[in-house]
Amino acid sequence: MYSMSRYAPSANVSELRESATIAVSTRAKALRAAGRPVIDLGAGEPDFPTPACVMEAAHRALDAGCTRYTQVEGIAPLREVIAKRATALRGATVDPADVVVSTGTKQALFNACFSLFGAGDEVLVPTPGWTSYYQMLALARATPVPVTGSRQRQLKVTPDDLIRAATSRTRGVMLNSPCNPTGAVYSRDEVSEIVGVAAERGWWLVSDEIYRAICYDGPAESLLTVAGDWPRVVVVDGLAKTFAMTGWRIGWSIAPRALTASMVALQSHTTSNATTLSQHAAIAALTMPMGEQASRAMVSEFKRRRDRAVAELKSAGVDVLEPAGAFYLFIRVGDVSSVEPDPGTRFAHRLLEEFEVAVVPGAAFGAPEWIRLSYAAPIEDVLEGVRRVVRAGIS
Ligand code: PMP
Repeated sequence: MYSMSRYAPSANVSELRESATIAVSTRAKALRAAGRPVIDLGAGEPDFPTPACVMEAAHRALDAGCTRYTQVEGIAPLREVIAKRATALRGATVDPADVVVSTGTKQALFNACFSLFGAGDEVLVPTPGWTSYYQMLALARATPVPVTGSRQRQLKVTPDDLIRAATSRTRGVMLNSPCNPTGAVYSRDEVSEIVGVAAERGWWLVSDEIYRAICYDGPAESLLTVAGDWPRVVVVDGLAKTFAMTGWRIGWSIAPRALTASMVALQSHTTSNATTLSQHAAIAALTMPMGEQASRAMVSEFKRRRDRAVAELKSAGVDVLEPAGAFYLFIRVGDVSSVEPDPGTRFAHRLLEEFEVAVVPGAAFGAPEWIRLSYAAPIEDVLEGVRRVVRAGIS
């Protein structure tokens, strides 16, 4: 019966594409299930266990019967902890009432994009950029406007790049430092200059800081610190990457009060509260020294892998961005031309089918000349994957 029913996608989703990063993982898993020894360097999740103190807190919460709905915006003690950390970054009080806890950073971002932008609005997206920004903005019926930074600046955008792409309909900018997929990190000066342009033009800044702690020369700058008095700022963050807690689905936003009210209303009609047990466990991640230690150990292991993998690629003459944060290598694999519109996808496809290494084509991030290789995998796999990239031969 189901196979016979006809489905015509609504106008809401007719243009929507499945997340390319998830699609690659699905294909890699299917090949593995068929017995092929695929090395999966497509994933965007730390290959580390969640810290034990977080597990214990979840057990305690379960034993205490924390199994019911909470307030939509999240339990008070968790919002207090998040507000306290934000206060330290901002150097001025962030009230727990400015915090909304969501089902992952993804939902916090969606709440923000959907509440801030709508039909006729343009939003500048530094490109390469995380695949979901474009789709979330499109779901909000706004227009994502890709702005590409130059190779000399690790593909980061400058205020001039943003100004050139702006029109009278521009309403905001998506920021992501460290950046997925490039690993590039914006310096304090670079962020301040962008804040300056936003303040001149009245733009909103949506800052996705999910990789802020995964940064090899100390944590990246937060917009909370750099935005100064400019109030049109939403900072989103979460536990997935910093504490190896992807499956717990905890993220949050920090935003001006009126916007927060809209986001709470939106969330109240979509998912209500983030999972109650995860909220309790999140307090442990953010407050126990063990959580911090586990996170630091993970970051130093990522650094070791980055150093080894970048050295191998460079010695083979491969054009790779040296990432200062996150856990991805962005590798240039060809030139776009009329006969070759998407060299990254062709390369990634061949790498998977012939060399059994899964990576994500750069086209998913608006950069068809590149591929993204995740080093959130055991170092032997990362190095073997890198060698196969070299063997596959970059034209
Ligand atoms: N932002 C970026 C830049 C990401 O890479 C990811 C995860 N891939 C997310 C947000 C979503 O994170 P979460 O799992 O907390 O929803």
